Amino acid sequence: MSEVELVLRSTRVITPEGTRAASVTVADGRIVDVLGHDAPVPDGATLEDLGDHVLLPGLVDTHVHVNDPGRSDWEGFWTATRAAAAGGITTLVDMPLNSLPPTTTVEHLRIKQEVAAAKAHIDIGFWGGALPDNVKDLAPLHEAGVYGFKCFLSPSGVDEFPELDQEQLATSMAEIAGFGGLLIVHAEDPHELDSAPHLSGPKYADYLQTRPRVSENAAIEGLIATAKRIGARVHVLHLSSSEALPLIATAKREGVRLTVETCPHYLTLTAEEVPDGASEFKCCPPIREGANQDELWQALADGTVDCIVTDHSPSTADLKTDDFATAWGGISGLQLSLPAVWTEARKRGHGLEDVVRWMSERTAALVGLDTKGAIAPGRDADFAVLAPDETFTVDPAELQHRNRVTAYAGKTLHGVVKSTWLRGRRVHHQGDFTEPAGRLLSRNGS
Ligand SMILES: [Zn+2]
Repeated sequence: MSEVELVLRSTRVITPEGTRAASVTVADGRIVDVLGHDAPVPDGATLEDLGDHVLLPGLVDTHVHVNDPGRSDWEGFWTATRAAAAGGITTLVDMPLNSLPPTTTVEHLRIKQEVAAAKAHIDIGFWGGALPDNVKDLAPLHEAGVYGFKCFLSPSGVDEFPELDQEQLATSMAEIAGFGGLLIVHAEDPHELDSAPHLSGPKYADYLQTRPRVSENAAIEGLIATAKRIGARVHVLHLSSSEALPLIATAKREGVRLTVETCPHYLTLTAEEVPDGASEFKCCPPIREGANQDELWQALADGTVDCIVTDHSPSTADLKTDDFATAWGGISGLQLSLPAVWTEARKRGHGLEDVVRWMSERTAALVGLDTKGAIAPGRDADFAVLAPDETFTVDPAELQHRNRVTAYAGKTLHGVVKSTWLRGRRVHHQGDFTEPAGRLLSRNGS
């Protein structure tokens, strides 16, 4: 074991055993130990005394659309990873679509990795994509280190990433289960979407009718049945419909290998507050009503929903028109996800320990990142330092995202991220950033 180089001391360190005053010792980018608050600082080590600011494990965001290369005017690795670092996120896993090429072959993965490597302010992993015609590419992508495979059951919004029908879903799922991989699913049923009213225009209530709960419920019901039949491990992306929660709870009780995520916007924004034409609030599935949101929080509390991820999916401002039918569907929230979730969580009586469980521990576990997700000996020394009681008002001009369109503009949020640490290095400090020090991560550690 090499010598301790750094000690981070706080009266509030969030560990898997709870929050306590502690000194966390770091050597070679890893946590050596979590000692008593006043433990002596080893010779030669630097002490960083954080006072009463909370030291939490860096967040792991497993659902981010970086769009680079190809649509880097929407977002890119440089801007996305800076925004993430500013928000206390130290690892992101990039979605396979919206970049050109999409991550659907090993060759495409290599292209993305090459683009990402020099721009990574935090650690980056990659999802692969499951398309109707790339079943033969799935095992090689798994071997090349992607964390799993994303598919759609309804149109994805970009032509180069077509959805799977039920037969193709079963084929891809069986293939992925065969090598012990994970299939992650955008679950909206295309037939239910087809039979929903086809409305357009600036009214959010009209948009909501075009993407009803039943489309999510039906897709999830089908997915569970297929996963059960095949014995596959599957993950439901960005759950919005609270009506699907009983189905999910039952499947989990029956032992189906199912996990579920939801997103900050479903947990903190409501359909009732969306102004006419405000397509910065548009995403698929949509933000639903306040009563639906209450049930999602309940499901997080009881474990039916496992984790919270951003689904950061920006576009250029010109694609966010005031017609909800044609505006780009995606919400930009990478930098704001921790304060947004924390603001609502504290109102509802949850602690920061819960937020850490949902946004770091469980997301790390989802992709098997056993070096991330906790302040514990042997883990990477990835941290966020948070002033949980300080507030700020969201000013889009202060966001690091490439495009500063945000549904959170003007909101006053609790929780200011003071600094962010990656493998024992402070990579973000009150709006300043170091040169990129992130690594590209791979499922098999290669
Ligand atoms: Zn997404």
